[in-house]
Amino acid sequence: MSYPLPAPARAWRDKVRRFVAEELIPHEVAAEMNGGVLAPEITARHKRIAKEIGLSALAIPRELGGAGLSFLEQVVIQEEIGKVTNALGWCYSSTPPWMVEACAGSAHQMETWVKPNIRGERHECYAITEAEAGSDVDAIQATARREGDDYILNGEKWHVTSANHADHFIFQAKLAGGPHAGAHCLFFVDMDAAGIVLVRTPAYTHNYAAHHPIYRFDNVRVPAANRIGEEGGGMEFTYDWFRYERLGIAARCCGAAQRLIDEATAFAKTRVAFGKPIAEQQSIQFMLADSLTELWAARLMTYRTAEEIDAGIDRKASHAQCAMAKLNASEMAGRVADRAVQIFGGRGYMRENVAERFYRELRVDRIWEGTSEIQRLIIAHGLYKRGQATLIE
Ligand SMILES: Cc1cc2nc3c(=O)[nH]c(=O)nc-3n(C[C@H](O)[C@H](O)[C@H](O)COP(=O)(O)OP(=O)(O)OC[C@H]3O[C@@H](n4cnc5c(N)ncnc54)[C@H](O)[C@@H]3O)c2cc1C
Repeated sequence: MSYPLPAPARAWRDKVRRFVAEELIPHEVAAEMNGGVLAPEITARHKRIAKEIGLSALAIPRELGGAGLSFLEQVVIQEEIGKVTNALGWCYSSTPPWMVEACAGSAHQMETWVKPNIRGERHECYAITEAEAGSDVDAIQATARREGDDYILNGEKWHVTSANHADHFIFQAKLAGGPHAGAHCLFFVDMDAAGIVLVRTPAYTHNYAAHHPIYRFDNVRVPAANRIGEEGGGMEFTYDWFRYERLGIAARCCGAAQRLIDEATAFAKTRVAFGKPIAEQQSIQFMLADSLTELWAARLMTYRTAEEIDAGIDRKASHAQCAMAKLNASEMAGRVADRAVQIFGGRGYMRENVAERFYRELRVDRIWEGTSEIQRLIIAHGLYKRGQATLIE
C-alpha cells in the first residue's frame, strides 16, 4: 500500500476492479474481433451491473442524481476502467461537471439535456474539431448567426466520438455578427435537427463500438434557448471539459500500464527460453523495472492532481497540473505498452493479446484532448505566468 487512499476511495477501487475483471475483460477479444461490438445482451448486462454498483455520473452532485464523488475517488475508478481494452469500460453515464455548472441557470436545459444525461437516458457527443482546426481551437470556421429567437449553425466537424451512440451534439461555433462576433459559443443540437448530414464514418486504429464520424451542419436552426451560457462564454466551458477529460486520461493510462505490467510479468515468469524463464534475463527485468517505476510516478502525480482539485486549487493552476498528469501518464503508458509487446515476443503482435491491443489503443492518448505538444505548451505558459511555486510546490 503506497498511497494513503481514504477508505471510500479504496472501497470504490475494489468494487470497480472486480467488475472490470469479472464482467468486462472476459469479452475483450470478442469485441476486438467484431469491431468493438458485443452481443446486445452482453452490452445491456454491462450497463445494468455498472448502474447497480453505482457507476453513474460520478462527478455530479447527489442532489442531481449523480454519485457525488471526490476527484480522487473518480480517478481511482477511472484507473480501473483503464485496465480494459476496446473501450468496454464506456458503459455508464459520464456527465461532465462543466455541463451542470454551465446549465444550472436554465431549467429548460437542465430538464431537456442535463438531467436525462445524468440518468443515462440521453447521450451527448462533442463537435469541436474541424478539418482545419484541431490543436488550434480558435481556428474553427463553424459559425452561429443569430436570427430572431434562433441561431443558424454552419460548419463541418471531425472525429465526433460516440456520435453513433448519441442523441445530441455539443456544437462549438464562432458567433457571426452581433456584439460578440468572433467569440466562441456552445449549443445543444439534437441529432434529428434538419440540416445535419453524416458525411462519413472513417475507420480508426482501435476497434471501438463508439465511432468518430464527420458531420456537416448546413443551416441548422436551433432556438436561442439551446445556447449554453452567455454569448462568448464557450471557450471557458471547453477548457473545463478538457481539464476534466485530461485527468481521466491520465488515470486510465495508469490503469492500462498496471494491467500490462501484471500480464507481462506473469508471462515472463513462465516463458522459458534457453532453459530458463525469460524473467531471469536482466534485459527483461530492466523493462519491467522501468515500467513499474514510471507507473508509480504517474500514479502519484495523477492522485495528487485530483486531490488538489478536491482542495479547491485555482482553475488556471489546475489546468497546468492536469496537462502535466496527462502528458506524463500517456507517454508513460505508450512506453510500457511497447515494452510489454517486446516481452511477449511474437504473441505480443497478435490481436488476441492485451499488449497488442493496448499498443494501438493507447496511442490516441497522446493525441486527443490535446496532443502532447499542446500539453507542453500549456505547462510552459503556466510556468511563465504563475511560476513553479504555484504549480508544483
Ligand atoms: C480517436 C479520436 C477521437 C476524437 N474525438 C473528438 C471528439 O469527440 N470531439 C472533438 O471535437 N474532437 C475529437 N478529436 C480530435 C482531437 O482532439 C484532435 O485530433 C487533436 O486535438 C489534434 O488536432 P489535429 O488532429 O487537428 O492535429 P493538428 O492540430 O493538426 O496537429 C498536428 C501535429 O502538429 C502538432 N502541433 C500543432 N500545433 C502545434 C504547436 N503550436 N506547437 C507544436 N506542435 C504543434 C500537434 O501536436 C500534432 O503533432 C478526436 C481525435 C481522435 C484521433
